Amino acid sequence: MARIIAVANQKGGVGKTTTTVNLGACLAYSGKKVLLVDMDAQGNATSGIGIRKADVSQDIYDVLVNEVPIKEVIQPTNREGMDIAPATIQLSGAEIELTSMMARESRLKLALQEVEDTYDYVLIDCPPSLGHLTINSFTSSDSILIPVQCEYYALEGLSQLLNTIRLVQKHFNPDLRIEGVLLTMYDARTNLGSEVVEEVRTYFRERVYDTIIPRNVRLSEAPSHGKAIIDYDPKSRGAEVYQALAKEVMNREQAE
Ligand code: ADP
Ligand code: MG
Repeated sequence: MARIIAVANQKGGVGKTTTTVNLGACLAYSGKKVLLVDMDAQGNATSGIGIRKADVSQDIYDVLVNEVPIKEVIQPTNREGMDIAPATIQLSGAEIELTSMMARESRLKLALQEVEDTYDYVLIDCPPSLGHLTINSFTSSDSILIPVQCEYYALEGLSQLLNTIRLVQKHFNPDLRIEGVLLTMYDARTNLGSEVVEEVRTYFRERVYDTIIPRNVRLSEAPSHGKAIIDYDPKSRGAEVYQALAKEVMNREQAE
């Protein structure tokens, strides 16, 4: 049975997509079978792992809205052992279209049931909002991984995110948990970074991963080559830290 993890924070630019792609790739590198689900109409995970959006004929929108079986939209990526259910800009229509649909919260959950025996991990790249696409992601998931950028106001907006998690727990998915909180884009040259680390650790305690993702330019270059960091520059600091995160994720699962 796949472990399904949503990577979510309604703030944009905090490292959701970078984490989804690179954590997924490092889990695949460790021999796990991984599926990425791109739930953001920007399709950054899709293009970032080497899928040309112009070549995508059916995507996760068709799964959610037109009930196309997810197996028909899944494609292999540039990382061996990792597949993706891609997104294109048509997904931007789903937020409104889902509003009037039956069982709108559980459409992704139903779709993923078809593939839960095929993969060890399903990682969902959530959009920067708390609408229907995020609710679908939370309803389908075992847990949520929250990337938090090391900057001023890092915790701002997190209470809304936690409220949404509570609502989904109450109405659709009582077993939903917080997988972990990941500090991203840490800059050792500023005091601010370490203050934020303290603040987030005080609030989330042992839920915060020991691994902290630093700013690393190779991480920002990799998507334009359609590759995860482990394949683009395996010796980089970025590759090291995402491998460390993958180990932590696997260890936490064993510890449970
Ligand atoms: P989100 O999905 O939350 O909007 P992204 O993962 O797309 O955030 O990251 C936002 C931008 O920051 C992207 O251009 C990405 O390449 C870059 N980025 C993300 N993490 C890092 C990092 N650790 N070091 C350097 N650049 C990063
Ligand atoms: Mg993103």
